[in-house]
Amino acid sequence: MTGPPPRHGAPDDLPLVAEEVSVVIDGRPVLVDVTVRVRTGEVMALVGPNGAGKSTLLSVLAGLRRPEGGDVRLDGTPTRSLRPRVLARSLAHVPQDTALDFEFTSRQVVLLGRHPHLRRFAPVGPEDERIADQALRDAGADRWSDQEVTTLSGGERQLVHIAKALAQEPRVLLLDEPVAALDLRHQLHVLRLLRELARRGTAVVAVLHDLNQAARFCDRVALLHQGGLLADGPPELTLTRENIAVAYGVRVVVRHDPDTRSPRVVPLDIDEGSGDTR
Ligand code: ADP
Ligand code: MG
Repeated sequence: MTGPPPRHGAPDDLPLVAEEVSVVIDGRPVLVDVTVRVRTGEVMALVGPNGAGKSTLLSVLAGLRRPEGGDVRLDGTPTRSLRPRVLARSLAHVPQDTALDFEFTSRQVVLLGRHPHLRRFAPVGPEDERIADQALRDAGADRWSDQEVTTLSGGERQLVHIAKALAQEPRVLLLDEPVAALDLRHQLHVLRLLRELARRGTAVVAVLHDLNQAARFCDRVALLHQGGLLADGPPELTLTRENIAVAYGVRVVVRHDPDTRSPRVVPLDIDEGSGDTR
């Protein structure tokens, strides 16, 4: 048979793909056959009720947790076969809990983001320092550059960790509740930053709780419910009254918001008898 040779790599615009991933913790299925394709130039929101498996899925995507079933591929290569240092050149993960107990300044923490790019045991150079300082500015964290991270507020620390991820210059950026500890202005700043990164070609996945932020700032929303994907697609198709009732057990109306030109979810009441009651 003639024709093009079979393709083993991933399409260029799908750098990270999780295929039918399953995770079992303490004998309990936490993720069941979840398939997620992370796309270049797109901000994808990962939403779902507490305990749905969002952080677990993000750890699997980041190569930090090995799934019991399925696999995760970066540019077609299983992440489990990549050394962490190699993976970290392409992929950055900002965890939900950013508490650190060592006495580093913010700038020193952000400079750690450069380490995957350095030759082994090589010191950081002026270019790394320039990138770290730019990352601190881009994240809006430059005011605390010289302050020890142990003395920062939760929100300030969150911005420093976002700066560290930016300094890594990843093609895939995974963030677990990146705006959870931030004030209104910093929330908007970070969400706009994610959009700008996507515009410049980064593939972004962010766990968000605020469905209206997901609707406004994300191209795609993946809705996790009881360890499976209930919906995955553009906000108008995923954040429906029906899906939200099933996943959260909340009655809502979804309106078009003329100010943000995106769907707006208005919670009405708890819907007894549906939602995640595990
Ligand atoms: P989410 O981020 O959506 O709130 P998680 O992914 O953190 O949810 O957790 C999914 C489920 O797995 C939860 O029910 C949680 O209690 C459970 N889980 C996660 N990690 C562990 C662990 N180390 N030990 C026991 N249960 C865990
Ligand atoms: Mg979580």
